Amino acid sequence: MDCLFCKIIVKQIPTNIVYENEKVVAFLDINPVNPGHLLVVPKAHSENITAAADDDLVALTLAVKKLAPAVCAATACDGWNLEVNNGNAAGQMIDHTHWHIVPRHADDGLKHWPGHSYAEGEAAKVAEAIRSKLMTQVSPS
Ligand code: AMP
Ligand code: ZN
Repeated sequence: MDCLFCKIIVKQIPTNIVYENEKVVAFLDINPVNPGHLLVVPKAHSENITAAADDDLVALTLAVKKLAPAVCAATACDGWNLEVNNGNAAGQMIDHTHWHIVPRHADDGLKHWPGHSYAEGEAAKVAEAIRSKLMTQVSPS
């Protein structure tokens, strides 16, 4: 399989790895939003969250909990975003599950994404459509 992140995981392609355990690797994003921007990836290849094994997702979450305070302390950040792009339309460029930890600074000039109001009755319809899909979903539980 020709996967960039799988190659990074086996050290075929060099990166600045900051943390590694049995299940996950964390390394600097080559094109950071802010310095210290990390990518946290499971060692086992999967395309995205819905395809990843549950224990890999647990390991990713625990790694983020450990890494984010270190990133923040090292970069004197005021906050941080955990970002996950799923699918091309959402900005996913690499088809290997990865979570971004992006340190943020009060004056970094980045804008939060815009929100829109629902039209009359629209929210209830959308919520019902999601509930109905959940009822017929086979997995995950
Ligand atoms: P996404 O758009 O969520 O798929 O994010 C993919 C990220 O991978 C981007 O932010 C890229 O800057 C980053 N990236 C691509 N190639 C490398 C690399 N060789 N080493 C580190 N990060 C990379
Ligand atoms: Zn991969």
